[in-house]
Amino acid sequence: MYKNSIKSKIICNLSQIPGWRTNRKIIVIESDDWGSVRVHNREAFLGMQAVGLDVSKTHYDTVDALESNEDLQDLFSILSDIKDKSGNHPVFTPMCIMGNPDFDKIAASNFEEYYFQPLEETLNEYPKHDKVLDMWKKGIEEKLFSPALHGREHINVVRYLRILQTGDEGMRTAFSHKSVGASSFKGKSYPNYLGALFPESKDEVKQLHLYLKEAGTLFEKYCGYKPLAFIAPNAEEPKELEATLNDIGVKYLTRSKNRLYPLGDGSFKRELNWLGKQNSLGQICIVRNCFFEPVAWGEHSYVKDWIGNCLKEIEIAFRWKKPALISTHRVNYVGFIDPANRDKGIKSLRLLIKSIQNLWPDVEFLSTNELGQLIESERSSLLTNTL
Ligand SMILES: [Zn+2]
Repeated sequence: MYKNSIKSKIICNLSQIPGWRTNRKIIVIESDDWGSVRVHNREAFLGMQAVGLDVSKTHYDTVDALESNEDLQDLFSILSDIKDKSGNHPVFTPMCIMGNPDFDKIAASNFEEYYFQPLEETLNEYPKHDKVLDMWKKGIEEKLFSPALHGREHINVVRYLRILQTGDEGMRTAFSHKSVGASSFKGKSYPNYLGALFPESKDEVKQLHLYLKEAGTLFEKYCGYKPLAFIAPNAEEPKELEATLNDIGVKYLTRSKNRLYPLGDGSFKRELNWLGKQNSLGQICIVRNCFFEPVAWGEHSYVKDWIGNCLKEIEIAFRWKKPALISTHRVNYVGFIDPANRDKGIKSLRLLIKSIQNLWPDVEFLSTNELGQLIESERSSLLTNTL
């Protein structure tokens, strides 16, 4: 997320210095939000727009629909068409959401209770999505898709339910369209209800442990293995959740370099992170250093040339002997609401990968899990050699 100024270039270079290094030119592509509902469909978008929800301000509130069979098919098609020097395809590490609010049950309770709907049931309510979980598995088998965990749902249960309970016209309208709404209604912003694991109060944290445990169980059901890598949705999670993440199998934590995590009740603590940093549980920190959001507009369109900018970020990463960890959201690759959005995102991705290979013919494509395992294996062989 580096803007084009000398100061930001210096910060970008300096921030690469600490942490794990390699002579290999490694590309990891992490992509958040797979499995989550944002805007249900085009009718939902138009219905929300009609009441004054600010759905046209960003691409997330306009075209970010649940991925369809076709979206995955198109993505896999371009990934399987390309190989690195070892014969491996570019691989997505999708950060996946395991379900969504159960809109019907919440409405039936008159907004008094929150109900969660596992992803397989959400997919059944959509018309072009019956093969999505099979496609996830196909992607895993073909090493094109290496799912990691993003959370149980992408909304904060307490904040979301509270807004609905006030009878807020904007959020209730989004809800009636089985969408999770926009960030603002008639210019008035909502509190951060997308930060699922970002608690307001300390009391809320107990519940977050349970959500993560359920997410771990569903992840194993859908993907056939325990989640090894994790990034929290939208806002940082409390430190104490690392133990539960460890219990459900998570060994690699994608973190911001300068993490401000919540303690609850309005207080926060700062933590500096770098690639390969280990916490007391032995979990390894993964840090992103490249950004690619080619369909972005509104407040997110701070970069004009996403391919050129991403290539510069990769160059800086390789200069400092770091893997390039590219952050790119699902919204770039979905076309259920607007097929032209998916076409633009996928074409841009193909061009980015081809440009990377032209500039660095010896690049290697790894998933986050493979990168984590590589860092771990180097650590353990170093330890063995020094014994
Ligand atoms: Zn997310």
